[in-house]
Amino acid sequence: ATTRTPLMAGNWKMNLDHTEAIATVQKLAWTLKDAKHDYEAVEVAVLVPFTDLRSVQTLVDADKLDLRYGAQDLSRHESGAFTGEVSGAMLARLGCTYVAVGHSERREYHAEGDDLVNAKVRAAFAHGLVPILCVGEGLEIRKAGEQVSHTLAQVEAALVDVSREQALQVVIAYEPVWAIGTGEVATPEDAQEVCGAIRRVLTELYDQEVADAVRVLYGGSVKSGNVAQIMAQPDVDGALVGGASLDPVEFAKIARYQA
Ligand code: PEP
Repeated sequence: ATTRTPLMAGNWKMNLDHTEAIATVQKLAWTLKDAKHDYEAVEVAVLVPFTDLRSVQTLVDADKLDLRYGAQDLSRHESGAFTGEVSGAMLARLGCTYVAVGHSERREYHAEGDDLVNAKVRAAFAHGLVPILCVGEGLEIRKAGEQVSHTLAQVEAALVDVSREQALQVVIAYEPVWAIGTGEVATPEDAQEVCGAIRRVLTELYDQEVADAVRVLYGGSVKSGNVAQIMAQPDVDGALVGGASLDPVEFAKIARYQA
C-alpha cells in the first residue's frame, strides 16, 4: 500500500514569455476548476522559465490556486560573482516549490555532470526547494541493455551527502533521453523496469520508508492518450511532461488521467 500522491509536472522548457505564462496558467487553472480537480489527489505543477516566475507567483497568490510551480534549473552557488545564474534562495523567495535538476537537456547542452547535479540537488534542499532529479539513458545505452545500471548510477551520484530527511522529499524523474520530444514513448513495461529499480536502490541507499515515500515520475512524450497506461505501473507516481504541457487543456487532461 502506498500513500504517495501522484505528481504531474509540466516542463515548459524555453517556451512562453511572462504574458503567455499568465494566460496559460489561467487556462490550466480554469480547466481544472471546471473539472473539479482534487489537487490533493493528484498534484499539479509547472516548471517555467525564470522570467515567468514572478508573474506565475502573482497569479497563484491572487487567485489562491492550488497549483505548484518552480524553475527548471538553479545555481549550485549561494550568491556572488556568477553572472547569469539564479540561486535557490531567489527561487524560494518567489514561492517555488520545485526545481528540476539534471534535465537531460542541461546534461547534454550545458555539460552538466553528476557532481554538478549533486551540488544542485543539495543547493535546492538548502533553500527548502524540492528537487525533481532527472535521470535516464540515451539511445546507445538502451540498445546495449544498460539502462538500469546507467540510471541507477546517476541516482546514486546525485544523492551523495543528501540526508535521509531530504531524501524523503526528493522527486525522481526517469526520462529516457530517446523518448524526450521524439514522440517515441517508452512502453509502460520499460518505464516500470527502471522506475522499480530506482525505488529498490533507494532501499539500499536509505531504507524502505524512503523508498516507499519517494515519488518516481516517468517523462518522455507523455500525452493524454498514453498517460493512463503509464500511471497504471506500480512504481510510476506521475509524469514530467514537456511538449504536451504547453497546451493547458491537454495538460489538464493528463492531470485528470483517472477521470
Ligand atoms: C521533458 O522535457 O522533460 C519531456 C519529458 O519532454 P516531452 O514530454 O516533450 O518528451
